[in-house]
Amino acid sequence: MTIEKTKAFVLKANPYRESSCLLYLYSERHGLVHGIAKGVRRKKSGLPCLERGFLAELLLYARPHRDLHTLAGISILDFFPNVRTDLHKNAVRDMAFEVIIKTMSTDAPHPDVFSYLAGFLFRLETLPPQRCFPAMAWQFLYDFSSLMGFGPNIDTCVLCGRPFAETSGAHLLLESGTCECVECSRRAPAHGTFLPAAVLASLSDAAGADHAPESRRISAADARRIIHLFARFCQYHFQTSSDFKSIDFLDSLLRAPAAARAAEPACWTPR
Ligand SMILES: [Zn+2]
Repeated sequence: MTIEKTKAFVLKANPYRESSCLLYLYSERHGLVHGIAKGVRRKKSGLPCLERGFLAELLLYARPHRDLHTLAGISILDFFPNVRTDLHKNAVRDMAFEVIIKTMSTDAPHPDVFSYLAGFLFRLETLPPQRCFPAMAWQFLYDFSSLMGFGPNIDTCVLCGRPFAETSGAHLLLESGTCECVECSRRAPAHGTFLPAAVLASLSDAAGADHAPESRRISAADARRIIHLFARFCQYHFQTSSDFKSIDFLDSLLRAPAAARAAEPACWTPR
């Protein structure tokens, strides 16, 4: 058994037996880990109550070849209050966490994913809600697939090699992870799914503009289509058969009357 101090994001927290908690963590040093925090639900324990979305520092008593590790010495470093209380930010965060839980193996360290997650949650916490939802949902799916080594090439057309024009969008071919420009796709349709220029811009513009121009606006219907497309892309390339349930919730938020009203004529602003 090894004992290590590590930082970790709480991806999921379930009650366990009388007074303990079963935690799904994304840790800095071990990647995805499952662990038991004993006695944390006991009233007099004096231990912090752990919730999904918190960043904690803890001691991980890791037993090789075991699914469940023991967690102790837990302290909370950040509880991301804005994400915690905003329904839309919450929904984007929960989707990211579900994708990680369902696609990554446990005890396989991936420090890039940990630091990406830290930056992602910081942006969710600090940016205004309309810049987080829904654009950060497809942003996560795209960034995460890129981090894991199979992100789609959204820079140049796979057929003619030209970079995509700022105003015309591209067709994404799910299986190959390549894109075709509008002209090539018209000449020889390959049944790719259309990505509007605004979506391409939101993905390649890492810095993100403070005020996205009119041309960057995306309708609620398009937003739903793009989130489903990138979710299917991840499922296909991670070879996972289980659905991401949190996508249905994002979908319902985008179908809600308030979202539909806000989307008239078309005003979801990516990033
Ligand atoms: Zn082309």
